[in-house]
Amino acid sequence: MACIVMKFGGTSVGNCELIKNVARHVKTEIDQGNKVVVVVSAMSGITDSLIDYCKQISPMPDICEYDAVIATGEQVTAGLLAIALQELNIPTRSWAGWQIPIKTDGIHGKARVESIITTELEQLMAIGYVSVVAGFQGISSDNRVTTLGRGGSDTSALAIAVAIKADRCDIYTDVDGIYTADPRIVFRARKLNKITYEEMLELASLGAKVLQTRSIEIAMKYLVRVQVLSSFVDSVGTLICNEDEIVEKELVSGVTYNRDEAKITLIGVADCPGVAASIFGPLNDANINVDMIVQNVSDDNIHADVTFTVSKSDLDFAIKVLNKKQKDLNYERLLSDSNVSKISIIGSGMRSHSGVALKMFKTLAEKSINIQVISTSEIKVSVLISEEYTELAIRALHSAYGLDI
Ligand code: ASP
Ligand code: MG
Repeated sequence: MACIVMKFGGTSVGNCELIKNVARHVKTEIDQGNKVVVVVSAMSGITDSLIDYCKQISPMPDICEYDAVIATGEQVTAGLLAIALQELNIPTRSWAGWQIPIKTDGIHGKARVESIITTELEQLMAIGYVSVVAGFQGISSDNRVTTLGRGGSDTSALAIAVAIKADRCDIYTDVDGIYTADPRIVFRARKLNKITYEEMLELASLGAKVLQTRSIEIAMKYLVRVQVLSSFVDSVGTLICNEDEIVEKELVSGVTYNRDEAKITLIGVADCPGVAASIFGPLNDANINVDMIVQNVSDDNIHADVTFTVSKSDLDFAIKVLNKKQKDLNYERLLSDSNVSKISIIGSGMRSHSGVALKMFKTLAEKSINIQVISTSEIKVSVLISEEYTELAIRALHSAYGLDI
């Protein structure tokens, strides 16, 4: 007998038939003698509509009321799934975040879970009840409904899994696992049986939208085994686990990309202490996230060029912020290019092998793809290239690292 948190994403609960299908998945676990807590997302498209309603009434809605509105999508699903489970004679009840309560900080729109009182959940579980919890939401210390950021139901599920010491957290979605590359681009991509927390964290922060990044951080910190699987097909998914559970470590486990990058170059900034801080300080104040950064070595010891990337949607704003600071920063010219994408290879095997990055550079060179910026971490190499070569680069790298089926 295991204690499992089952989380169902928006497409898995997209209509009433699908909600009934989800109820059958829950029943399968119950019939096997497992204890289950379910966490649900809003039905697909609902959160977007709720956001749209707020924006129709005010371009800058009060953030507390905004959360009060957008948290409701998950409550609808929780209630509907509870009804569907009752139809299958499974004792159940639904929960809004505040009823449990799932306590969060007061940062509306991207609140963080602080604690979860599990007494009632555990009592119900002990007598064979299934609790269906509305994901994505919590309550702040001043008694307001908060939400955890887009995709936040994953984080609700992992936080609950930690709190009730679940043996596993199953994330049901519309893909049947984590792939070596986006199967829409690489037809020969294959599903990974296992992937490490670290690799998954890199994948998620690079834009693979299967899981909210925060949820993986929680899983990694508390070593919760997470399984990603489809609610539509019956097949084993991908297990996200600790490195020591994976015997055969892949050199490279996946090739991923992010088209949402734009490049800014400041030509001729002063080459002296404090300059980087004076460039990135104002961007930070303006809430603009900077991703890759390179500064070249100046040949005159007076001037240097700094290149960095921001998301495409932040580009215009970032340019405005930097133009405003032109006098202080005293750069010669600002160049920008939104026609770029970032390609990354990820693999924990990289840590103990050399030549992995070199292979990437050679592979791209063979395809005459120019590398504009490079950044690395222990288990990742990323390059910035012209956007039009995105697919070509991904496919070439996927083959080069032997990932094709
Ligand atoms: N419904 C929320 C969203 O669309 C949270 C989630 O689905 O995880 O972002
Ligand atoms: Mg999601």
